[in-house]
Amino acid sequence: MANIEALIEQNATFVATRAYEGTTNVPRLGLFVITCVDPRTDPSAFFGLRAGDAMVIRNAGGRVSSEALKDLAFVCHLNEHALDRVPDFEVAVIQHTQCGTRWLAEDAFRHSFANRIDAEEEAALAAAAVTDPERTVRLDVERILSAESLPRTISVSGHIYDVATGRVTTVVPTVPMPTNA
Ligand SMILES: [Zn+2]
Repeated sequence: MANIEALIEQNATFVATRAYEGTTNVPRLGLFVITCVDPRTDPSAFFGLRAGDAMVIRNAGGRVSSEALKDLAFVCHLNEHALDRVPDFEVAVIQHTQCGTRWLAEDAFRHSFANRIDAEEEAALAAAAVTDPERTVRLDVERILSAESLPRTISVSGHIYDVATGRVTTVVPTVPMPTNA
């Protein structure tokens, strides 16, 4: 079992490699990943990312939620107004097979969870379910493309990670933001 004390000891190895040197708050690869919290859906593992390579938002489902859009807009705003650079991120939405959020499509599960978190809109929870990742990836790429809070200088693509094979398949190839959203 990985307890945090053991991991903090292990951190000494990372410090010794000096892999943190040269990293900045602008991702080296210009990559901004939105993916699921599922431990199998780790872009550092399946893309071989290193410290400083990418921005990553992880939430239940890897959905382009209002919160994810707000964080993406924040990073773009930070680049424009504090870092004096054009935010030219490649945003990659990566959802996966066998996602736990598919349970939100089950009435009894969704209803009991809605009660647990005092959700006012149970319908919104149903919409958060990833039962068919190809469908929800396309929806979420569209959500980014139609977001007026985002600059025209970023681009977005959509992908599915297969937990059974480790393979990432592109569903929506990279598209630029529309010029007049
Ligand atoms: Zn998931």
